[in-house]
Amino acid sequence: MFFRKEVRIARFLSPLEGFTPVAQRVEFRRDPLTGRWSRINLERAKRVRQAMGESPLELLKASASGCFFCPENLERSTPKLPPEFGEERMRRGEAVLFPNLFPFAEFHAVVVLSREHLLTVREFPPRMLEDALRLSLEYFGRVREVEPGSEYLMLNWNHLPSAAASIVHPHFQLLADRTPTFWLGRVMEGGRRYRRRTGRNFWLDLLREERRRGERWIGEGEGICWLAAFAPQGQNEVWAVFRESSCFGEVGEEEVRELAEGLSLLLKGYADLGVETFNLTSFSGPEGGGSRGYHRLTLRLISRPPLRPLYTSDSGFMERFQYEPVVETVPEELAARLRKVFEGGEG
Ligand SMILES: [Zn+2]
Repeated sequence: MFFRKEVRIARFLSPLEGFTPVAQRVEFRRDPLTGRWSRINLERAKRVRQAMGESPLELLKASASGCFFCPENLERSTPKLPPEFGEERMRRGEAVLFPNLFPFAEFHAVVVLSREHLLTVREFPPRMLEDALRLSLEYFGRVREVEPGSEYLMLNWNHLPSAAASIVHPHFQLLADRTPTFWLGRVMEGGRRYRRRTGRNFWLDLLREERRRGERWIGEGEGICWLAAFAPQGQNEVWAVFRESSCFGEVGEEEVRELAEGLSLLLKGYADLGVETFNLTSFSGPEGGGSRGYHRLTLRLISRPPLRPLYTSDSGFMERFQYEPVVETVPEELAARLRKVFEGGEG
């Protein structure tokens, strides 16, 4: 396992230091599986963002009026599942599942997590997440009965508008595809290459190595390990890696409970770091366990720009076109802070 890191020094005369010479450290890091590079400069976190207003929480609360996902509107404003699913909308606890009105997959569902319209990152208890996760797995199971060819299942969560959520009301998006996404394809290809070269599973080796090094290790349970990504693709990137499951179909009862607890803790840790918005996605191998030799189910989270009427996007030319993201959070520092939250215990 090779964690490749190269440091380049950028030199200039800084107006912040009376035009004396300064040197800033830019770390280039290479993802050990896919080879994708990212760049880290901690100094960037200090830079001035000219567009930065006050927190619009009040404005967001007002978006409850007429919200399609609020309990008083949901029944008449959201689509129903077709008859082959056996019920029109699926429910568990506060969670409600229905098809996306504007899908971008053959199977694309929405899971509304709460009756409450607006929840901050700190306000997701394990129980609420567990209900939503169980409901998601139940939907995936039905999709597989309806269309066995849909073997690539994806669980996603954009939280709040600066993380690309068009609806403020907390919701997951579930997708089922016949082919892997571009990046899942790359991840699995990397895993197969590693298997051919070493005869071992990259993910199990990664867990062993990261656990030994400890610097990016956040916490672990029976079924899931939490760590900061070595070469992050976004700010505050955290991975949840399943020890056994390679795809959602293999996830057991206990793992769901553990995932919900870990996720709730992680979101509390994010809140402590000042994170207000985030994206979550998953990398699930083909259903049926065909990728167990070289893949493991992972969930990944990154934080997104703060919740402000005017904010600076974190996706520019490097992220959108060059696929070499610029990151200003240091994985080892992130892990150290989140580790404390995980060690602190209960979700
Ligand atoms: Zn709502």
